Order: sequence, then C-alpha cells, then structure tokens
Amino acid sequence: NLSYAQLNRYSFEKGMMGSPFKLVLYAPDDSVANAAANSAFKRVEKLNEIMSDYRDGSEINLLSAQSGSGKWVAVSKELFDILAISQDISQKTEGAFDATLGPVVQMWRHATRKGIFPARQEIEEALSKTGFKKMKLDADGYKVLLAQKGMRLDIGGLGKGFAAEEAIKVVKSYGIKSAMMDAGGKIVLTDSPPGTGGWKITVSNGSDSLKTMELSNTSLATSGPTYRYMEYKGVRYSHIVDPKTGVGLLYHVRTTVISPDGTVADALATAFSVAGIAKSKKYMKFFPESKVWLVEKQNEQVADWNMLE
Ligand code: ADP
Ligand code: MG
Ligand code: MG
Repeated sequence: NLSYAQLNRYSFEKGMMGSPFKLVLYAPDDSVANAAANSAFKRVEKLNEIMSDYRDGSEINLLSAQSGSGKWVAVSKELFDILAISQDISQKTEGAFDATLGPVVQMWRHATRKGIFPARQEIEEALSKTGFKKMKLDADGYKVLLAQKGMRLDIGGLGKGFAAEEAIKVVKSYGIKSAMMDAGGKIVLTDSPPGTGGWKITVSNGSDSLKTMELSNTSLATSGPTYRYMEYKGVRYSHIVDPKTGVGLLYHVRTTVISPDGTVADALATAFSVAGIAKSKKYMKFFPESKVWLVEKQNEQVADWNMLE
C-alpha cells in the first residue's frame, strides 16, 4: 500500500451522453492515472452504444424495434441490469419512474424542435404505447419482452448514474482507492481523498439555499430545471414527464438523492421529481438506505423537504 504522500490528484473531463463527465482520482503516477481514466471513459462509450436512444443501431433501439413481435429478446447483461433496476423502481413508485416513456419523450423532442405544442390526441396516442407493466423481464438468460407494438424504451432517467457506477468500477480495477465520477450531476464516490474526511459536495435547492457535505463510498444524484425544457406560451415544461399525463412537469422542482448505488440515486431523483413531496415521503419506506432533499415551487410557494442531514 502506498502512503498518502505518494499519491497525486488528477482530474479529467469528457463530454459524453450529452453531459460533461468529470473524473477525479488519486494515483501514484501519470501512467496509472491516464490508463484508468482512458479505460473508464471507454467503458462509458461502450455503454452509450448500448443505451443511446439517438442511435438507430443501439441495443436498446433494436430491442424496442421488436416490441409487439411476441418475442423474448436476449440482451446484454448491462442492459438487463439497467432495466431490472428501472422496473423495481417503477413498481415501488407506482410508475412515477417509467423507462417505457420513449414514445412520449420522442413526441416532445419533436414538438420542441418544431415549437408546436402536441395536440391532446397525439399525447394520448403516445401514452397508449407506454406502461412499465408491458415490459417483461426474465433473469434466466437476460431476456426482455415488450408486449405492445410501438413501445420504445428510454433510460435517460438512470443511464448516467449507471455509467458513473460502471466507470468507477473500472477505475477501482487499477488499484485506485479514491475517485469521484460526476456524470452530469450523477456522482459516484469511493474512499475520501487522502488525508480528508470526505469528498466535499455542495448541493443547491435551486435558489438561495446551499448545503455542503463530506461524503465517501456513496452516490448522489440531482435532477431539476435545467436548460432542457420546452417553453410554450410562456410556460416551461421540464424534460421529465409525468407518466400519468404525458406532459413535462410544470412546477419547478429540485431533487437531490443520496443512495448507496448511483443508478438507484439517478432513478429516484427523477421519480421523486414526478411524485412530489407527499408521495415521495410514502415511497421512501422502500428505500431505507437513501436520503432525499426535495424542493417544490408552486404558485410562488416553496415547499422544502430535506432529510439529507
Ligand atoms: P438528467 O439526465 O437530464 O439529469 P433525469 O435523470 O431526470 O435528468 O433524466 C431525464 C430523462 O429521463 C428525460 O430526458 C427522459 O429521457 C427520461 N424521462 C422523462 N420522464 C421520465 C420518467 N417519468 N421516468 C423515467 N424516465 C423519464
Ligand atoms: Mg438524462
Ligand atoms: Mg434521473
């Protein structure tokens, strides 16, 4: 084991999955640091080939193309693992998180590009092809069945958390003990930086209140109003969709989740944004190892539920 004094801090950044991915790690020398970072980013690239909804040939889009065929499709372990976590969280949040929202997300992307608000009928049509219960998983052989034609999976709500987890696994395989991967606000942390009490992470409720924490061996995800929204007649709709209405969230919400697993943290940050404070309190009983900070703004009123302490 190397002593702390022999370790240097390295940081790397690369744009991936539409977000900046930042990796900080402590390593004995440049060659170890560079090798670990290159392999970690390669792993994310590989995952993007599987999960990207922008690429026709991605594994997830090929799977969606088989929806309604009645076929159980064998998928990679990675894709199966993501879908299994997604399905578990859908069940525990009464569908607030739903990876089958692809048709609705696509419709909104199209609408945002054109600047035209979709007609009620178009929204209903897209919604009719969604529903997590129509996605069946068989852990024997990692098989997936999409029961209805026109279904389309979208794992944008937990993909970056999963990628951060996988990247950190790669970094660890180089013998590196202290590392942080920040995948566009989905952060996975290992041991504290040498000689410190933890990684200093500051989260904000979106207006004035900031909170700095020292964390290690855990993960943290934030979700909230960003540049990714659609504005129509002066109203901003989030890119997070309410699966019940098929419309982007109207109210401005900021959600922060700390969880032992980065994929779960990412999914919960999205799910709780949809569910709001009252329902999230109820769902939290299924996630005893997670903590959440949720701020809602509706009609100028701010409701703040903070259990990060
Ligand atoms: P970001 O990745 O932008 O930080 P999220 O983790 O909340 O934010 O993911 C938002 C993405 O998740 C959307 O762009 C869309 O692809 C997908 N999505 C939207 N609404 C939902 C939902 N209710 N459940 C699951 N995924 C969703
Ligand atoms: Mg996303
Ligand atoms: Mg998310």
